[in-house]
Formats: sequence, C-alpha cells, structure tokens
Amino acid sequence: MALKLQILYRGPLSSCNYECNYCPFAKRHESAAELKHDRQCLERFVDWVAAQTDCELSILFTPWGEGLTRRWYQQALVRISQFAHVRRVAIQTNLSCSLDWLGEANAQRLALWCTFHPTQISRREFLQQCQMVADRGVSFSAGVVGLQENFEEIEALRAELPSHAYLWVNAFKDLPDYYTDEQVARLEQVDPLFRLNLTNHPSLGAECVAGESSVSIDGDGNLRRCHFVSGVLGNIYGSDWQAALSRRACPNLSCDCYIGYVNLPRLQHDNLFGGRVLERIPRATHWQGIHDRQQAIEKVNAILQTSPPLSV
Ligand code: SF4
Ligand code: SF4
Repeated sequence: MALKLQILYRGPLSSCNYECNYCPFAKRHESAAELKHDRQCLERFVDWVAAQTDCELSILFTPWGEGLTRRWYQQALVRISQFAHVRRVAIQTNLSCSLDWLGEANAQRLALWCTFHPTQISRREFLQQCQMVADRGVSFSAGVVGLQENFEEIEALRAELPSHAYLWVNAFKDLPDYYTDEQVARLEQVDPLFRLNLTNHPSLGAECVAGESSVSIDGDGNLRRCHFVSGVLGNIYGSDWQAALSRRACPNLSCDCYIGYVNLPRLQHDNLFGGRVLERIPRATHWQGIHDRQQAIEKVNAILQTSPPLSV
C-alpha cells in the first residue's frame, strides 16, 4: 500500500507585504539573493514531490512570511495540484495576492488557508478575495487571530462569509489569562472549535503521529517530525528517507498550535475534520443554527475532558 504522508513545507522565505504589529516578519524585505535561494529550494522540493509516485502526499506550505505574492509559490501550487499522487496541496496565506493563477491549477486538489488581518485589509476586500477563490471552485478556510479589539470585526466577518465557509479563530496566547469566560463563550459562537485552540495541550510523552504520518520539511530537505521539535530525522534528498518515519512520544511539554496538536490522536481531529485537517475545513461547517453550534461546543468539551493533562 502506498505510504500516506502529510508534509508541512517551510523554506527559507521570511518576508511579508503586511505589517501586523505582533509579527516578526512584518514588512521584512529580503535581498534578491535570499529570494533566489528560496525559489531554488522550492523548485527542488517540487521536483522531489513529482518523483514520489509511490506515495500519497498531502502538502501544506507554512511559510514564515507571505508566499503567494511570489510567483514561484503560485507556480509550485499549480504544478503540485496536477500530480495524481497528491491528495491535496494547500498554503497558509494572507490572500492579498492576485488570484488569476488559480485558473491554471487543478481546483479539486488545491485549497487555501486564508487569514484575515483587520489592520491590513478591509473586511470587504478580504471577502471579495474569498469569493473569487470560491468562484474558482477552490476550497478554503478563513481565519483570524482573536484579539479583543477585533471581536466585532470577527463577528461581522462570520456573518458575511458564506455559511459553508469555516471561520476559525486562533487564540491570542502571548498574554496570560487574556480572555474572560464570557469572551471565550463569545468566540465559541463564531468558532465552536475555539477552545481546542485556546488550550495548551500537554504533550510530553504523549503518543503523536508527527514523524510517522506527518512531517515537517525545510528548504534543505531536512525532515523533522513537526515544526516544534528541532531534531532532524533524515533528509528527503537521501535515498532512505522513509526509514526515518516511525511513531514517537512527544518530547515537548505542550503542543499549542493547530498544525501541531492535530497530530495528537486523542484530540480526534481525523474525526472532527473528516480528512480535511490540512486545509482546516471541519466535517461540519454549517454552524449557523444555535443548536448545531452548541452540539459542536459540547463535542469539543467532551474531547478535552477525555484528554486530561498527562502527568509529567
Ligand atoms: S500577514 Fe502573517 S506573516 Fe505577514 S505580517 Fe501579518 S502575521 Fe506576519
Ligand atoms: S505533540 Fe506537537 S510538538 Fe509534540 S511531536 Fe506532536 S506535533 Fe510535535
């Protein structure tokens, strides 16, 4: 049976056209030589993906900055979306780029993970971009960081997005006890899965599939279990890279980020997301009714209660 592998790719790119005040990549510029290096790393990776016809791959690009304003990321997505052995290719993006290139991609395999930054783009413009993605038949999730000053904007975005589009809210965790109980309940009305993101999931010694069925790859081809554990397991440009894959216990105290904690089997993301974990599109997205939303919130609470903190 073909090896099924989820890959998070993060090359050297670390610049962005936006300037979100909490982000180290805001308005950071890179030299022509740095950008050329990023493009060469990416093209080498895409050539490697093309050759892995004995695997079934799902690939999420998680650049430090914004990739889609660079032509080589658009071309990489277009090219990878044509490969029959790729189940899905997706990218985290601020969605500020031109979207003409979507027409060249295989929309059935492509997905976008689109983050709204209210200080950088108007809600109306962001919604127009989302509509263009939907018009091209490309699936997407939209999301936003749950800063307190943005609560009204977040609720308005939820109200104006199509009901089938999931709006995730990432918890702001830089300040302790940032949310009151009322504020958590308010954000759960927007994103019933919010509490999963708010929780710092204890993970030391926990069973995790990162390193077995999900891996992180950098621009040099170094293979790690995830973005949050630095140890290198192997290199995809060597002949025996698959030998590095196995299930291991997590060495970190906690796992706090969506692209990490989805790999903890006890959190049941395969079930919640029905195979669309990569692009962050849950199995059920029609949470417009209070009853449906409440059911989803209760399901999240049940998952959290059955996965108590591990003793360390
Ligand atoms: S869009 Fe993302 S990468 Fe760019 S400045 Fe904002 S948070 Fe940082
Ligand atoms: S639990 Fe999180 S940090 Fe630990 S190995 Fe898994 S994905 Fe990485």
